[in-house]
Formats: sequence, C-alpha cells, structure tokens
Amino acid sequence: MPRFDLSLLEHAQKVPGKPRHKTREVRVGDLVFGGDNPIWVQSMTTTDTFDVEATIAQIHLLEEAGCELVRVTVPKPEDAGALSKIRERISIPLICDIHFDYKMALAALDHPVDKIRINPGNIGSNDRFRQVVRKAKDRGIPMRIGVNAGSLERDLCEKYEFPCPPAMVESALRYIEIAESEGYDQIIISLKSSDVLVAVDAYRLFAKLADYPTHIGITEAGKPPYAVTKSAAGLSPILLDGIGDTIRISLLGDPVPEIAAAFDILQATQRRVRRPELIACPTCGRLAIDLEKIIAELEVRLKGKQLPVKISVLGCVVNGPGEAKEADIGIAAGNGQGMIFRNGEMVRRVPEAEIVDALMVELADWEKANAHRLVSPGKPLAQKGVEGIGRRKLPVVAGENPRR
Ligand code: SF4
Repeated sequence: MPRFDLSLLEHAQKVPGKPRHKTREVRVGDLVFGGDNPIWVQSMTTTDTFDVEATIAQIHLLEEAGCELVRVTVPKPEDAGALSKIRERISIPLICDIHFDYKMALAALDHPVDKIRINPGNIGSNDRFRQVVRKAKDRGIPMRIGVNAGSLERDLCEKYEFPCPPAMVESALRYIEIAESEGYDQIIISLKSSDVLVAVDAYRLFAKLADYPTHIGITEAGKPPYAVTKSAAGLSPILLDGIGDTIRISLLGDPVPEIAAAFDILQATQRRVRRPELIACPTCGRLAIDLEKIIAELEVRLKGKQLPVKISVLGCVVNGPGEAKEADIGIAAGNGQGMIFRNGEMVRRVPEAEIVDALMVELADWEKANAHRLVSPGKPLAQKGVEGIGRRKLPVVAGENPRR
C-alpha cells in the first residue's frame, strides 16, 4: 500500500487560482462594477464635506494616487449642499455616505452624486429605507448597502446571538429583498467587520447566496503598517476566492496611502495587475551579484510601466534558473554574470554591470511581442479580464476567460 494516495493529484487543477465570482453588473458613473470588470479602488475623504476646498484638495490628491472613486460623508444639510460643487470639480465618481439620518440620504440624492452608501441597520425603519430606495431609483443612482458588524439590527443579533457572518448576510439579504420589492436592483453589498475571520466568512457566505457585486474591506483596520497587513490578511482569501468588485483599505489618518495598499493587494492576488511583478530573492551567503543595487535600479527604470509581466531576478543558481523559467523574463546570477531567460529559455549571458540594460532590452522585446494581447494602449490594465501574471497567467486580454 503506498504511503500517499497520488490519484487526487492527477485530477487536481494545474493552473492555480479561481475565476471571479459571477455577479451582475452595476454602473457607477463611468465605471461598471461586477462581472469581468476590474476591481475598482476607492477611498474616503477625512475632511468636513461642507469645506468644499479642503475636500476637493484631498480628492485631487487621491486621484493623483490612482483612486478611482471617492466617498464623502454627509452628516449635515450643509454637507449635502456641497455635493454639487464637489462633483463639478473632480473627475472620478462621487459617493455620498449616509448614517442614521435618512433625510440626509434624500437631501444628498438631490445632487448629482454617482452612488449612495447607506447602512440600513442604523437609519431607523424599513419604511425610511424604502423612501431612500425609491428616490435612488427615480434618480437612477446606484446604492451600496453597507452592512457592518458594529451596527447590526438588534433582532439579528438576538437571533444569531452576536454579529456573526450569517447574521450579517441575513441583514444584507433582507435589504436586498426590500429594494427588489421596490423594483430596484442597482445594488452593491458590503459586509464589513474589523475581525478578519468574520469578514472573510461573511463575504464567502454571501457569494453562495447572491450575485450582487461586493465592496470589500476590513473596516477600522487601524494604523499602518499593521493595518495594511491586516487588510491583506483579510482581503486576500476573499479575492483569491474570486469575490470582490471594489476595494477600500481603511487606514487611520491620511487616506492617500490606502490607494497604493489596495493596488498592492490586488497585484499580489493577481486580481488586477497593473505593473511588472518583480521577483527577487532575499539574498544569502550564496549571493553572486549585488542584487539590492540591481533591484533598486530596475525599480527606477520600471516606474510607470503598466505591463503585466513577471520579471525574476535571483542572486544565484540555486533557484535562479527555475524561477527564471517560470517568469516572462528572468535572470539567474552566477560568477558575476547573469543568465538571461526569455519565455522559459536561456538566451544569453551578460556581465553583472549589464544585467539591468539587458533586462530592459528583453522587456522592450516582450512588449512588442505581446502588443496584440495588451488591450487599449494607454489604459491597458483597466480592462475586462485583465488578471494574472507570468507565463502561466490568466489572460491579459479582453474577452473570454478560459477558466470560466
Ligand atoms: Fe541565496 Fe541564491 Fe536563494 Fe538568493 S537565490 S536567497 S542567493 S540561495
């Protein structure tokens, strides 16, 4: 009798990863959420919304960082009054964020906002929620129903004993049902918790029961750098399961770093690749080249390149050739030289001082050879189906995902 049963491996999927969870599509401004569309990166301002200049200044900083839609809080009538002025002067969709007071939701919907976020659990009654839904429907504005473990309805907390994943999902389904009964389905759902385990299970459970797009995030993650690690720990399982259509990283303080953190998590989970993936070893006593110097130089030369290419640069021949063969372009160092790999084949050797130049030449060739597969030059990585990286990647072109 063999020690291990290998028959399971024969039938196991060789190309790793799961396809995106199938959801319906919901339009927010000029962005479409769900389906095969990119997972959009969003953030939220920390200014008083009625302070139009300060709010716009912060939104412009977020836009520069790559933020694709932005939320502002609307706790008072003067905040609602500022929404039109803000919307006029920004170029990304604007979301109004409402808690407690449904009248603020109704007031905000008088302005040209692109989406409303409401937490039905804290606005008092289903009738109030219906009033907001009816107005959103009349105005053609989509809505995020934001369920939060910290403000779950009392009856659900009693039924399930505490704000657990099933309680959160039942809350979301309850409000979806009410909205649908009003003939409204322009809905995005969030199931936020500051507890990673609760959030992961809630999103997984919801995806089994419904096909609405989801906004994912670990709420109140706290202060970076731990908050980024915690967000990555919580969002990665969700993303790797194919769940999530827009992402927000909640960091204490300045929201601008949220954007880079969100894109890093999307890049690492290969759900939205927007720059070259650089594989570099940690170095050790076997190191045969000045790897830190080479990587620093490469980072500068690769800045701004929006290419879904995997480049491996390893410091010796232990793992170098193996990694290089799996990358689009690779270097394995040895004896002050670099062996250059392209598409899994060793093509030449160069002296250490020429490694970076040689990699850039290979990259230019790769770009030329793959030009037909990169959609919409100028905006190549914000298109449908752009996932995965490396030689065994998911497709980097618009169109059918063969793994669906
Ligand atoms: Fe060390 Fe070589 Fe591994 Fe780099 S690739 S960590 S130098 S053994």
